[in-house]
Amino acid sequence: MPIAKLIPGYRRSEKPDSTTFVGVEPSDEVSQQPGVLWIGCSDSRVIPEHIANVGPGEIFVIRNVANIVPPYGTADETVGAAIEYAVIDLRVPHIVICGHTDCGGIKALDKSIDMARRPYLARWLEWARPARNQVVVAGITGSDRHQEMVRANILLQTENLRSYPCVRDAQNNGHLNLHAWMYDLKSGELSRYDASSSLWEVVIV
Ligand SMILES: [Zn+2]
Repeated sequence: MPIAKLIPGYRRSEKPDSTTFVGVEPSDEVSQQPGVLWIGCSDSRVIPEHIANVGPGEIFVIRNVANIVPPYGTADETVGAAIEYAVIDLRVPHIVICGHTDCGGIKALDKSIDMARRPYLARWLEWARPARNQVVVAGITGSDRHQEMVRANILLQTENLRSYPCVRDAQNNGHLNLHAWMYDLKSGELSRYDASSSLWEVVIV
């Protein structure tokens, strides 16, 4: 893809009558009052704004490999900084952690990662290892193995979110709700975890 394709003006002039996505319109007038902090994977096929069908100003987004939230007090600061800003300053009422099927990060975790060539990736994915171990211990194999690891990782990262004092405080004050979602790349299904039944239920087909 030529880099010029990323420039909105270029895309508009290329397809002036197109109804498809041609870049973001200037948004000086849009205030930032997002209703959600969305924590998703960096995967180029899983675009939060497309899944949620929202525009500028509507969701505050953190994306990284395998939608990971390192526990509070660990070395990572980028995720924690965005969580604090979203919860304390923007006062988002919801946080969604959305993982997805066919996740390269979770697949990499399920193989041995070459530390010499990918030291950052290998260390980063360690934050998801307990999810893999849980599925291995449960003896889940075959086609369900990957999906169960993705689901376990979403729930693990949701637990990690609760280790942040600002998240706990907002939850205790009744100002914040946490949501665990999974997007199925093949079917387009969006499912969510129901804590009361401990089951995943499809919300959009
Ligand atoms: Zn992914």
